[in-house]
Amino acid sequence: MRVLVINSGSSSLKYQVRDTDTNEVAANGLIDRIGEGAGGPADHGEAMNQVAAALESELAQKPLDAVGHRVVHGGERFSEPVLINNEITRAIERLNPLAPLHNPANVLGIRAITAKWPTMPQVAVFDTAFHRTLPEHAWRYAVPDELYRQYGIRRYGFHGTSHQFVTGRAAELLDIPVEEFNAVVAHLGNGVSLTAIQGGASIDTSMGFTPLEGLVMGTRSGDVDPSILVFLQRQGLSADDIDTMLNKESGLKALAGNNDMRAIVEAAAAGDARARVALDITSYRLAKYIGGYHVAVGGAQALVFTAGIGENSADFRALVASRLGALGVKLDDAANLVRSGDPRVISAPDSQIPVLVVPTNEEQAIAEASAAVVLRSLG
Ligand code: ADP
Repeated sequence: MRVLVINSGSSSLKYQVRDTDTNEVAANGLIDRIGEGAGGPADHGEAMNQVAAALESELAQKPLDAVGHRVVHGGERFSEPVLINNEITRAIERLNPLAPLHNPANVLGIRAITAKWPTMPQVAVFDTAFHRTLPEHAWRYAVPDELYRQYGIRRYGFHGTSHQFVTGRAAELLDIPVEEFNAVVAHLGNGVSLTAIQGGASIDTSMGFTPLEGLVMGTRSGDVDPSILVFLQRQGLSADDIDTMLNKESGLKALAGNNDMRAIVEAAAAGDARARVALDITSYRLAKYIGGYHVAVGGAQALVFTAGIGENSADFRALVASRLGALGVKLDDAANLVRSGDPRVISAPDSQIPVLVVPTNEEQAIAEASAAVVLRSLG
């Protein structure tokens, strides 16, 4: 099938045309500065018109079979990808308060396609869906129940499409049936999340009500004492100030002065003390969570690294592994240094937990999931 994958952010829209039979990418691009003036498209509808124009000759050769949308928040309703109709679009829209920057953009993207190609099958693939298997003891916060009932305040988890894709590939590489596979999967990109996999399903994950909870990220703080927020509010900072500070001005950027792992590793090697501390904090916090999730899954059969840092930074992987001696984790230094786009084992033969690098590919996962939903709907 030929699937157009749409990933709409608040002010950008990434797209890819993929053939799910050959796994070929026929076209891809990025439209940014949506709604920011300065010659950018006014809204997501106009951005979609630009995508359609850019794809015109490509689609004239071979038309699309479906459009797959990455939707950030599926709330408690969506546990798998669904075929979109008006009711589904409205349901996604009702979740806007839970993902105020992302879901409105997703809805605009869906409506723009509906307007442009009214009969095109569209599929929503949710970033939260893979984590719908979290047990209550993992998703519930220890706060008054009305917060959950009134506002839906609970842990949802994100990066689900990536965690699911990587889990499947890792099980395949180790030749373990995925429904028997226990693992800890570390998605280390600009956003960072760790997922505990038991029997192939997500049973815990480090992001929570929003993608801010958990580990140190590129520009996000991860876990902090919630009293800090109240304290800052009492010092006169607004809710928006605090939101911006924790989401955009924190994490590696705050600790090391920038959020590019490559630059931080180089600076640390050159003796930069801030970069060193940033690496220490980030790897220490990650190692603590990995230890916890190893316990949660009842003993992981693999520790899996993925995304920009996980796939590319041998230094950061080595630093994390060096903190996991208590679990008997041992890397094969040469294997860790290999650069490759293939899933691979990077641990020593006597490591008590195999360590893997498995490249993620959210677009491929969304295209494949969308094709499967459309095929099923055709009976
Ligand atoms: P996003 O969450 O935006 O998709 P990515 O998965 O692309 O992010 O990851 C971005 C991170 O990966 C950045 O911190 C970047 O510095 C890091 N990264 C990319 N390539 C390398 C590399 N060769 N070595 C170290 N870090 C890398």
